[in-house]
Amino acid sequence: MWTTTGPAAEMPRLFERGNDVISFSGGLPDLDVLPLEAISGQLSRLVRLGGRFAFQYATPHVSTALIPAITDLMAREGAGAAPENLVPTAGSQMGLLAVALGIATPGETVLCQSPAYPGATAAFRTAGLRLCAVPGDADGMAPDGLRETVLRLRAEGHTARLLYCNPTFHNPTGRTLPAAHRVRLLEVCQELDLLVIEDNPYGLLSFDGQCTPALQGTAPDRVVYLGTFSKVFAPGLRCGWIAAPARLARTLRTTTEVIALSPSALAQAALTAFHQRAGWTDLIDTYRRAYRERCALMADALEDKLGTSGPWMWERPDGGFYIWLRHRDGGDTGRFTRAATEHGVSFVPGGHFGVDGEHSDALRLSFSHVPKQRIAEGVARLAAALREGDAR
Ligand code: PMP
Repeated sequence: MWTTTGPAAEMPRLFERGNDVISFSGGLPDLDVLPLEAISGQLSRLVRLGGRFAFQYATPHVSTALIPAITDLMAREGAGAAPENLVPTAGSQMGLLAVALGIATPGETVLCQSPAYPGATAAFRTAGLRLCAVPGDADGMAPDGLRETVLRLRAEGHTARLLYCNPTFHNPTGRTLPAAHRVRLLEVCQELDLLVIEDNPYGLLSFDGQCTPALQGTAPDRVVYLGTFSKVFAPGLRCGWIAAPARLARTLRTTTEVIALSPSALAQAALTAFHQRAGWTDLIDTYRRAYRERCALMADALEDKLGTSGPWMWERPDGGFYIWLRHRDGGDTGRFTRAATEHGVSFVPGGHFGVDGEHSDALRLSFSHVPKQRIAEGVARLAAALREGDAR
């Protein structure tokens, strides 16, 4: 059984009851949409013609050939960066640790949303940073709440200059910070001289193809942007990037070199080959359609099995991977996990996402990788487990 308590704890508990478990727990992409035949041809050509470079160490720079693939993705959300502002990573998880080790000072406080992606809070804690949750409203992080929190922390003598956020199709709530909130948030960051860590794995995965502009595009000097190929291509390549103001990019380059020496030349070359031949549009559209369909199946099944006026509250997201369920009467959703295991379904208990032990009254469902024909069955099992857990 999978026993990590780190970020990978949100991986599917695939082995708990053999293959009969329907896992709503992992934030995994649906790799059935990848054009594997085409990719296999690209990879074999790459190894034949460029193997001596692709299997060699690289430098801690994004390979020149991959830069158009990154700027193409960023431009779709109104963001952008020059080559000297880009730092390669092995995915955003490494980007988070690099920021925590390279930019922050041990003991300082990082402001963040709660609930938050546990991989981020784990990275910050690993680097010896403190966390402070910013009050939220129905749309996510409240700009005025941020202002008050920073002023209070500073009055108490804490260093508070970093804000972590995942503003689009947030993990775990699925929410997107509206454009007006973003403007106000950046105003507060400007006023209080805060640096924003914008973690954006899901931004391009809206169901309707519309994009909310990234914070980085509006305030490139104030935002350290974490990009990744994990959700628009595949996480197995472990390839992503940081776009940061030039002075921070220099520091982060050194930090990433300390962590991993260099990015994977092979992964960068594979992504370059794919982008040069196919571009991103078709693949991203295919991912979007796949997730839109799965999300609709899950939301319809939840409506059918849990209703909208029962003990569980939830919203239909407009993109991303997740639906967040909250229990009206509070309590700890950990009490449902045993019943869920018995019924052959899994989810991630909300307490996992709390910055300070909160959100134990919630749970996160991921629809992104469940076979379509199993979603309704999984929700039926979940509903049975939740009813049983309530009665226990
Ligand atoms: N940030 C968020 C919000 C995530 O959901 C994830 C993956 N679940 C990551 C970062 C890490 O992604 P990766 O390292 O694969 O790029």
